[in-house]
Amino acid sequence: MTHRPQESKFVPHRTFVRTFPAGLQFIYAEAHSLNMGNARCYENDSLIIGRFQPLHKGHMEVVRKVTRESERVTIGIGSAQYSHTKENPFTAGERYSMIAEALKEEGISNCYIVPVEDLNRYSIWVSQVVSMCPKFSRVYTNNPYTRRLFSEAGFEVRDSPLYNRSEFSGTEVRRRIKSGENWRALVPDAVAKIIDEIDGAERIKQLGGEQENGI
Ligand code: ATP
Ligand code: MG
Repeated sequence: MTHRPQESKFVPHRTFVRTFPAGLQFIYAEAHSLNMGNARCYENDSLIIGRFQPLHKGHMEVVRKVTRESERVTIGIGSAQYSHTKENPFTAGERYSMIAEALKEEGISNCYIVPVEDLNRYSIWVSQVVSMCPKFSRVYTNNPYTRRLFSEAGFEVRDSPLYNRSEFSGTEVRRRIKSGENWRALVPDAVAKIIDEIDGAERIKQLGGEQENGI
């Protein structure tokens, strides 16, 4: 039987003392490069913002284009605090699920999804969006107010084309649901599936105007 010296009970402590400074150095280096350093650049990170009530195929065309042109894309879910109204039937969580599942269906993985509440003051809206989202430097929109507000704040703003707008619009999807017409053709399959799961069509049929819900 070979003799093995008994391990000192202080070995773990000695190991800790010996390696901790190196570990700490590593942590500082990582933190520096992630938060303050030169390695990460946001020039090619973009924002798309909409209410997505619900996400439709026009939105998806934009998402495909912007995710191809950008390194990372933040999809901001605007008016996040509203739900159960005629214009905003779905909650932020439901809209989040619709977007996440549609992205998964398309195999798109370079997106963040961030709900952003409206403060109903244009002058502070950009700050609100910036404070809620991962850093970005470019905004894609064709809304004149969004364009102006982000341009004034120093962001690069690019036009995003409208695809088949007469059909691909949230208003049209909600109208078709309400009148019992074929709405499924206007949204990604993943979105139709979630609307079915949450009985969303019935909800839309029941909803009146924003004021009529009494909340
Ligand atoms: P709603 O009719 O409920 O206002 P919407 O279709 O206008 O819905 P929003 O949720 O308001 O969509 O999101 C607005 C964003 O989506 C804008 O940036 C707009 O450019 C983009 N968008 C909406 N429809 C289309 C479309 N058909 N093609 C491309 N982009 C679209
Ligand atoms: Mg709109």
